[in-house]
Order: sequence, then C-alpha cells, then structure tokens
Amino acid sequence: MASTHHWNGVLDSALDAVGETPLIRLDRIRDAEGLKCNLLGKAEFFSAGGSVKDRIAKRMVEQAEKEGILIPGQSVVIEPTSRWTGIGLALACAIKGYKCIITLPAKMSLEKEVLLRSLGAEVVRTPYVLSHDSPDSLIGVAERLKEKIPGGVILDQYSNPNNPLAHYYTTYAEIAHALKTSNLRRKSVTALFAGAGTGGTITGLARAIRDSEEKDGAARATIVAVDPVGSILGGGDVGMYQVEGIGYDFFPAVLDPKPPLIDEWIKTDDDEAFAACKRIIRLEGLAVGGSSGSALAGALKFLKSEEGKKIAEDPTANVVVVFPDGVRNYMSKEWFLKQDEGSRDEELHSTIREL
Ligand code: PMP
Repeated sequence: MASTHHWNGVLDSALDAVGETPLIRLDRIRDAEGLKCNLLGKAEFFSAGGSVKDRIAKRMVEQAEKEGILIPGQSVVIEPTSRWTGIGLALACAIKGYKCIITLPAKMSLEKEVLLRSLGAEVVRTPYVLSHDSPDSLIGVAERLKEKIPGGVILDQYSNPNNPLAHYYTTYAEIAHALKTSNLRRKSVTALFAGAGTGGTITGLARAIRDSEEKDGAARATIVAVDPVGSILGGGDVGMYQVEGIGYDFFPAVLDPKPPLIDEWIKTDDDEAFAACKRIIRLEGLAVGGSSGSALAGALKFLKSEEGKKIAEDPTANVVVVFPDGVRNYMSKEWFLKQDEGSRDEELHSTIREL
C-alpha cells in the first residue's frame, strides 16, 4: 500500500506531526449500506494534538510570528475556546515557548482542563452566560485579560483567515495527494461531507476544491455541510444538542455558507450521530468522536436521497467524509458508556458465560 503520509526521517518536533492524516476506505460501512461509490474517511485524530484543530493552531501561530504579531519571549497567546483549538494552541505554545491562556466555559470536562494544564496552559473558567458580548462570557474574559496582560494576543479562530487557509493548504493538499497516488479510478473528490463549527474546515476545503476544478478541469464536486438539529447554521431553530464541536447560534465570520462553495446543508440529530460514531468504531476500527458520526450520518442520508443516488451508484465516485477528532475526550460521556449489545457475538458470549 502506498504511504498515506509524507513523513521522511526524523521530525523536528510534534508540530511536524500536525495533520498528515490518512484517508481511509470505509468498505465495511459502504457494503453494509449497499453503496457502490468509494466511501473515504479523513481521520484527523491521527494528528499530534488529536484533532483537525491542530492545523489551524499551528498556522495561526506561525503566520502571526511572520507578521510580527507574536514575538518569542514576549507575547502571551490568549484564546477563548471550549474545544480542540485550545489543545492545538497549547501544544504549539509549549513547543515554541509562548505563555498561553485558554478561557474555558465552566461546563467543559475536567479531562480537557487537565490536558491543557499539562501542556503548560493557564485555564480560566468562565460562567455560562447567554450573551457573547457580556464581560463575563468566554470572549469577554479573554478580551479583559488581553487588556491587562502585556504582550497579550488573541488569534481569534472565528475571524482569522488562517483558519480556513490551514485547510486550503494542508487538509485539501493531503486529500488530493492521497487520491492522486491511490489505485482509485478517479483521482478527484466527487462529494465532500463535513460538519461546521467555526466553518473553517468546510470553507477552506470547499475553496480549494473549487479552485482545483477551475485549474484542472475536474468535474464539479458536491459539497455538503452537516449541521446538528438545534444549530442555526443549516437552518432551523436554536436548541440543545449533545454532539460537540459543530453547530452554532451565530454565523462565524470565516464560514462561507452558500453556493458556489457549499451546495447544501443537511441536518442530523444526536441519536443518528452517536449511532453512526459507534458504527465507525465497530465496523472500521477507527475510534472517532461524535461529530464524525454526524458527518457520516449526513453523508449516508444524502447518498440515499434522490439527489445523492447518482453518486451512490457510481463505482468511480470518491465520497470524502471528514472525521474531526477521536473518542478520547468523550470516554466518560453517557452516550459512549451506553454500549448497546446488538452487535455482540451470541455464540462467543454463551461460551464465556458457561466458563
Ligand atoms: N468537530 C469537532 C469535534 C470540533 O471540535 C470542531 C471544531 N469546532 C469541528 C468538528 C468543526 O470544525 P470547524 O471549526 O473547522 O468548522
């Protein structure tokens, strides 16, 4: 099998192990669903910090250094984030020697805080407040810290162009390289499915795909964003949901939600997402997180629709689904602990019981 990453020799630091993730055939799910197309998962938990967000953390830090916004030995990186961006930034700061402060909402898991602290970041817990512009909100506290701390810099993943650009230059380049060096008949993306949090992943990938269509004359890909019920990004009302990392009650500046970039939005609920997540783990041996389940559930819904049928039945079609993180941070969540027994082997089990 051709190597799926570009590593040669010894890496300078863990920052060189950011991204470079494998694109993996999901043949068992494809066959179980009766699809003819190639179903491919981009497994981002292979990245050094464990998620797709390592890429943007690395790029935001390195670009800010180039622009003189971050100065080694002086600057302090401050970021309001409840999610993986904090871990990516703390990792980059640990290696590059910057102080780092992450503001984290009170409800986020202790595991996340402990991991941030072990990477040397200061963690400031903020109370749950409804309004984004309140001085006590995640963003409000980060802004106040920036005013007080000399050298304080907020890179701001919601508006920083290096968020989508990280995906334009790395995530897409890796997908294109994997397809080009594969034995698949077609060497381009036919359809792409990804969730949107900040929207950086899908916006950056969509821009790169559209640019390559123009440049290489490849057939136009179908690009679909997957959004949880309860998020407004793909339409519908604000509501509660448990899947982490995707969906919002406002439109982040880096998200470009319309055609020609994104063709369509598909909604998925928690049950569909968690069931699909467990299926990816069980059938494909990939220990992905909940938002990967959402992305796959959305992809399968689309491929079964009237619109998606043509792609589903085309054996040369390459359907790429982004799996943003692993299940590591969700191991203590109720949805993961509650493993259904439907998939166990009864014959083995009766032998074990009789022992
Ligand atoms: N899944 C998870 C688990 C995430 O943490 C994020 C980042 N918020 C996403 C998906 C979506 O990524 P993006 O911010 O690039 O839209």
